[in-house]
Parts: sequence; C-alpha cells; structure tokens
Amino acid sequence: MAAGRAGELGAKVALLERNNGLGRKLLLTGKGRSNITQAEFNPRELVKKYGREGDFLLYPLSVFGVKETMGFFEKKGLKIKTERGKRIFPQSDKASDVLNVFIDYLKKNKVEIMTNSRVEKILKQKNRISKIILEDGREISAKNYIIATGGKSFPGTGSTGDGYKWTKEAGHTVTKLRPALVPLKIKEDWPQKAQGLSLKNVELTVFQNGRKKDSRFGELLFTHFGLSGPIVLDLSGKVGEFLEKGEVNPVRGYKSQREAQANRISNGVKLFLDLKPALDFQTLDKRIQSDFSKYNNKLFKNCLSDLFPKKLIPIIVELSGIAPSKKVNKITREERHRLVKLSKGLAMRVLSLLGFKGAIITSGGVSLKEIDSKTMKSKIIENLFFAGEIINLHGPTGGYNLQLCWSTGYLAGQTAANSALNK
Ligand SMILES: Cc1cc2nc3c(=O)[nH]c(=O)nc-3n(C[C@H](O)[C@H](O)[C@H](O)COP(=O)(O)OP(=O)(O)OC[C@H]3O[C@@H](n4cnc5c(N)ncnc54)[C@H](O)[C@@H]3O)c2cc1C
Repeated sequence: MAAGRAGELGAKVALLERNNGLGRKLLLTGKGRSNITQAEFNPRELVKKYGREGDFLLYPLSVFGVKETMGFFEKKGLKIKTERGKRIFPQSDKASDVLNVFIDYLKKNKVEIMTNSRVEKILKQKNRISKIILEDGREISAKNYIIATGGKSFPGTGSTGDGYKWTKEAGHTVTKLRPALVPLKIKEDWPQKAQGLSLKNVELTVFQNGRKKDSRFGELLFTHFGLSGPIVLDLSGKVGEFLEKGEVNPVRGYKSQREAQANRISNGVKLFLDLKPALDFQTLDKRIQSDFSKYNNKLFKNCLSDLFPKKLIPIIVELSGIAPSKKVNKITREERHRLVKLSKGLAMRVLSLLGFKGAIITSGGVSLKEIDSKTMKSKIIENLFFAGEIINLHGPTGGYNLQLCWSTGYLAGQTAANSALNK
C-alpha cells in the first residue's frame, strides 16, 4: 500500500521483498479468504479496539479509513461482502484476489518490485539514513525510506522481525515483543480428545489466582495442543501478560525450574468455558431435568445429545464423575447440579502460549511516541517512515490488523512521496 501510494503520487519507488514473491502473509489471512477490514465507520469506535494507544490511528484513519479502504478495492474491481461480526471479505473468498489488486496497483504506478532482496543493514549519517545494504552486498540509496517489515510471527512468511533490529540500531525504542492473537497450550488432555470441534456462542473466562480477569463470548476451537478460535486468540494477549505477571514460586522445593514453572502456571492462570452462557444455573438445571425425564430409563451417557455436540459427550461424562451407564432416573440432585456446574465452567489450566510460530500478530513494536501520526515519519530519523505491524499497535481479530496496515501504509507512502518530491 505504501509503495503503491508513493508511486501513484509520482515518486520513483523500489519495493524490496526478501521472498521470491509478494504478500506471503497476506495470502494466509482469514484462512485464505482475507478479512480485509471491519465495517465500523466511526473512527472513535474503531480505535477503541486497538487498546490504550489506539487514538494514534485517528489521523491515519481520517486520511484513509474504512470507507476509503472499501472504495479502494471496489474501484480496482474487487467485489466485497460483509459477514457476521462486520467482517469484510472479498466476494470471491480468495486472499489471492486481494494480493492481485496490490500487484496491479504497484505495476500501474511503476513501482520497481525487487523480490529476492533481503535488506541486511541500514546505514545512518547523523539523523538521516544514507543507504541500505542487502544480504547479497547490493547497496541502495534513496531520499526516503519506509520500513514495513511486519512483526515476527509466522516467520515462515518472511516476517522474521528484521525491521525491529534496524530500528533499534537507528536509535528507536522497540517495546517488548510478544506473540498475540495466539492459540493456547492447555495442561489437561481432554481438549485434545475434542480436537477439530468448533463451538459457537460459548463464553471463555480467564481467572488468575481465583480472581476473574476477563472473558469473551463467541467461537472457540479445540486443537491437538489445546485451544484456538477467535475468542481464544482475542484473550491470548491478556493471558500472556497474566502468565508473565504470575506469582513466581521459588525454585527451591521443586526438582527443576520447569516444575516450578508448571506449578506457577497451574496455580495462577485458569480458564473456564461456559458451554451454555445464555442459560443461568437454575434454567439450565430445569432444562437438564426435563431432558432426563424425557429419556427416563436410558443410560446417562445416551441422554446428553440434545445438550452437547457428539464429540464432547464422552468428555463431559468423564469429567462429571457420574457413571456413564447409570440410568438417568437414578441420578441424584447433587450429581445433576455437578453436571450443570460443569457445563457452565469447564476448567482448564494454561500451560503456555503457542509462541511466535503460531501467532497471528506480534504485540509491541516501534514506540508510537517516536512516530508522528500525521505523517508516519520517525521523530528521530529525518527520512524514515513506518507502516503496518512493525509499530506498537495491534487490534483483535476481525479485519482490524489489515485496516491498520492500509491506513498507515497509505499515509506513509503519501507523505514520503510528497517530501521526496518537495511538495
Ligand atoms: C495466519 C494469519 C491470518 C491472519 N488473518 C488476518 C485477517 O484475516 N485480517 C486481518 O486484518 N489481519 C490478519 N492477520 C494479520 C495480518 O496478516 C498482518 O497484520 C499483516 O500482514 C501485517 O502486514 P505488514 O505489511 O505490516 O507485514 P507483513 O505482511 O508481515 O509483510 C512484511 C513483508 O516484509 C518482508 N520482509 C521482512 N524482512 C525483510 C527484509 N529484511 N528484507 C526484505 N523484506 C523483508 C517479509 O518477507 C514480508 O513479505 C493474519 C495473520 C496471520 C499470520
């Protein structure tokens, strides 16, 4: 976006990409469908989703906001559609169509696309970048430079965090980098048994040391290592912080650091999954009572199909502690209450986040205090601009992260071009 916009304004632009093609990560977005933005047209509402420092985006959005983004794609022939949760996708459901819009945009505006060109170093003279040096020794100099190297998650796509290193060397502050929007490894093995099962309209709550910290309502997915899906990804940033800030037990008394860590985790951060958030305890109890009287003489394990998906039933049966072949009319009130409690709070201990390899986004990045939001220009280096995930800002799932890239990219490209052209 940044290179295309700069070229559109008449600047001579070279886009350096280390891979042999552009947009590898873009092709993975939205499970290959690319959730390009979020249909929230009020910038004040939109920026709330990017956390405490979200206001930084108000100016970039005023130049190139959600409406402009939709118009940008539509004018270039990409039909779009809005789905549940105001998520906007290409009508074709193909991220490759989104990438093609950009390749055409770059070509039309005569941007020189230099693939297989990994930047290794940035050389500085006083407070200006003088040139950059590529891995293969080539040197390139320009009036202005835009760094848009992304985060350091899904490193196989090319985003290995190189930009953070150069930016630090140039004198910028890079805040703590953490994997965010990342699946969670769970200590219990029952989520594994449900792998592949996706649950809609459930509520996940995170507790630390017995205190409720946060919760999300929506869709969750069981995997071979634990949990994923939108509500898990959205809670993961907080879970990561809670894991870090957990009370550290002394290593003494434990066989190893690892054991101490495992103990800290299991004592500290716990998740509770409410499978029936729309029903309170009493209503759910009545509902189960009525199911049980309907099935009357049947075995407990065969009476739960109206309540839970098939894959979950043996798990619930086991966790409930009620004998699977007990007749439902023999189930005691206490046992039934146990089942209600379980349905409204399946407990799990978080072992860890899945890490950068599996994270959708990197939280942290170039400090926003050192970037002028009106231009995306560095406040430290005169001819340096930033765009995209490299800056210290990210949003939840739902198209927010790509919108951040379009808005900051457009603005960075525009101001870098105008200043190079002395406009
Ligand atoms: C699986 C997955 C699904 C996602 N789905 C969505 C979604 O549906 N909607 C949404 O809004 N967000 C989504 N995101 C987040 C979104 O993809 C990112 O926020 C976005 O791609 C960041 O764009 P960027 O241009 O800043 O960086 P990137 O897309 O990471 O691009 C940076 C580019 O810089 C190149 N590069 C890095 N270092 C060098 C170097 N030294 N020299 C030359 N080139 C270099 C890389 O090869 C890469 O091509 C998803 C992310 C993942 C991982």
